[in-house]
Amino acid sequence: MQVKPYLRQFPDSEGYFGKFGGAYLPPELASECKLIEEAYLKIANSHDFIMKLRDIRKHFQGRPTPIYYAKRLSESVGGARIYLKREDLNHTGAHKLNHCMGEALLASYMGKKKLIAETGAGQHGVALATAAAYFGLECEIHMGEVDIKKEHPNVIRMKMLGANVIAVSAGQKTLKEAVDSAFDAYLKDPKTSFYAIGSVVGPHPFPMMVRDFQSVVGFEAKEQFVQMTGILPDNLVACVGGGSNAMGLFSAFIEEPCELYAVEPLGRGTKLGEHAASLKYGVEGIIHGFNSMVLVDEAGEPSKVYSVASGLDYPSVGPEHAHLHSRGRLRLGGADDDEAIRAFYKLCRFEGIIPALESAHAVAFAMKLAKEKPYESILVNLSGRGDKDIDFIYENYPPEKFA
Ligand SMILES: *Cc1c(COP(=O)(O)O)cnc(C)c1O
Repeated sequence: MQVKPYLRQFPDSEGYFGKFGGAYLPPELASECKLIEEAYLKIANSHDFIMKLRDIRKHFQGRPTPIYYAKRLSESVGGARIYLKREDLNHTGAHKLNHCMGEALLASYMGKKKLIAETGAGQHGVALATAAAYFGLECEIHMGEVDIKKEHPNVIRMKMLGANVIAVSAGQKTLKEAVDSAFDAYLKDPKTSFYAIGSVVGPHPFPMMVRDFQSVVGFEAKEQFVQMTGILPDNLVACVGGGSNAMGLFSAFIEEPCELYAVEPLGRGTKLGEHAASLKYGVEGIIHGFNSMVLVDEAGEPSKVYSVASGLDYPSVGPEHAHLHSRGRLRLGGADDDEAIRAFYKLCRFEGIIPALESAHAVAFAMKLAKEKPYESILVNLSGRGDKDIDFIYENYPPEKFA
């Protein structure tokens, strides 16, 4: 019997990674997702689309991003060699643009006029507004009023890029209400608009599409690492919010003899609401149209979550992570707020790189792993740069305290 390569085998035609994934949707949305899936399979497998996306990545995004041996960091930890995949050097300063450009290119091939999305901290909103400007598409970003106050610079960026930022005043005025509001707006006009999901979550085909668009990170890194060192990395490490930067890196290595570590945010405690570690503490359940591991409260509702990195505080995780973890292919890593802040300063001072707080979680875990595996190599996905976080850190974790 011929066995298909992993990336062709998963998800299956119904969007399942084992028992995780799928599309749990009202009929009107299910038919739209089916149309998007068909268009994606057809268009994304055309030579024209592939060439166009490659051109964009090279000339607009500045890819390939380098990989880099973090010599001083590695030596100071005194263990494994730590390498960084520099997604912080991707245009707009994080990996998110990789899938936003892909989704926007698909939307424009499908003849859509408008991109719609929600945003929490504003990172997905900024990346999508960038993609919309590139393609000359309208862009509508739904954001809770609380987040709008908190994430002022990203709100300004979105507006400068020409996006229409819709302030959501319902409920807690944060991400969950923004999702509802964006969904409603999309449902009013599914023919001319495209809902651009910001991670490897949501109903099929989004976890597959976002993974495929992000896999450029892994395939580039694999080639670069072998070119640099002559062999594959022993360990791959990435932080996990929804899971897109991790899946992007891991996807090229699933069938290779490499350990994969998903680093979850352990926040400030093990109690529900104090962290966002969905694989570690979650239970199987359906959220936002897909089946995965979910952090739930006593009432069975998605629980409140917390991390110092706002890009990591999601009460679930991509279905493919849940699948790979249940099969023993994916190992769990973790870093709490304190470890992430220390790793942030370490990278600033030992390497001259100011990382995003999300990425600092991956670095923090890599530093722990390096001590356990002194004769191995670790490739970390440095998912983004930290410019967005510097005011917050300066105020709450001042540099003098971390000398
Ligand atoms: C949004 C974000 C993340 C978390 O999202 P994933 O989908 O889990 O990758 C991680 N790092 C940065 C820099 C981000 O902006």
